[in-house]
Amino acid sequence: MIIMKSDNLEKELELCQLFLNHIGTYVSVKDRNKKYLYANRKLEDLFKENYDSIVGYVDDDLFDFSNHSDVLDSDKRVLEFGDSIEKKEVNVIKSTGEKKVYLSSKQPIYNLQKEIVGVLSTSTDITQIHFVQEQLEIEATTDPLTGLFNRRFFFKLADQFLSKSIRHNEPLSLIMLDIDLFKEINDEYGHPIGDKVIQFVANKAKSLIRKEDIIARVGGEEYVVLLPNTNGQAAEFIAEKIRRAIDSECITGDWPGNIYPKISLGISTYTEGDCEFHEIYARSDKALYQAKFTGRNKSCMLEKC
Ligand code: GH3
Ligand code: MG
Ligand code: MG
Repeated sequence: MIIMKSDNLEKELELCQLFLNHIGTYVSVKDRNKKYLYANRKLEDLFKENYDSIVGYVDDDLFDFSNHSDVLDSDKRVLEFGDSIEKKEVNVIKSTGEKKVYLSSKQPIYNLQKEIVGVLSTSTDITQIHFVQEQLEIEATTDPLTGLFNRRFFFKLADQFLSKSIRHNEPLSLIMLDIDLFKEINDEYGHPIGDKVIQFVANKAKSLIRKEDIIARVGGEEYVVLLPNTNGQAAEFIAEKIRRAIDSECITGDWPGNIYPKISLGISTYTEGDCEFHEIYARSDKALYQAKFTGRNKSCMLEKC
């Protein structure tokens, strides 16, 4: 807890300025009205093009919080409730539009009467680490060819969705989708054009599902669509919608001939007694096999095929 030695916040600050101007972190003190009473040199330097000093200004003068109002909330929590906060903050500098990510720590400052008179903030610029981390997260969860979720991330999400469905007693369905005779497409047109077909099917299927549905590429030319709050009948309808949409498409490009991709689909739903997502997945896989075995370019649900 920071308690001042005297009742004069400005005077107390003078003592430490020399040191604070030489550390590699942004340091500031704001008063109860969130006006800057002090900013160390590193922080002042951020605004030196437009301000001789930011003392007397408030964050709204300096930063654009239109998409990051949580920063203002944390000051409020410190000043009103005496909370100490450590969190990642995104700040956009108003004059340049530059976006920076900080690890910020905020603490209340108390006077001798134990009243909160200000907030001390220290912020470390973690912009670069943050964007590297974000990129790594995208790479870890996304299939680079289609931009859909990858297999590993899909199974992680699927477990969470199954738990939620069981908890809320809601239906959950799964469609497994595989391009028919894809080897022939690869053989006839070559791998790079095969890749375009994989992308095409991914985009088409994605465009036909809801925002809350999860679509992923789980194999070479195999995809899955997880449909929360959707029963078997509705899933069949969606599967057929995707199948018909692709059945009516023709892919053309800078190659001779047209490609008419077809797909087969296996549908399953969560049924009471399923404990693991793999049980639902295995039923879709079997249903897909049925669809292939009984002629392709069709969708199947085990109990109906
Ligand atoms: P079926 O109707 O029974 O599904 O026949 P299929 O020819 O599609 O058979 P299968 O699913 O076994 O073939 C998948 C082929 O997809 C085999 C593999 O060479 C090819 N493949 C796997 N990954 C990729 C990829 O990333 N790009 C391309 N172009 N081909 C891929
Ligand atoms: Mg196939
Ligand atoms: Mg396959």
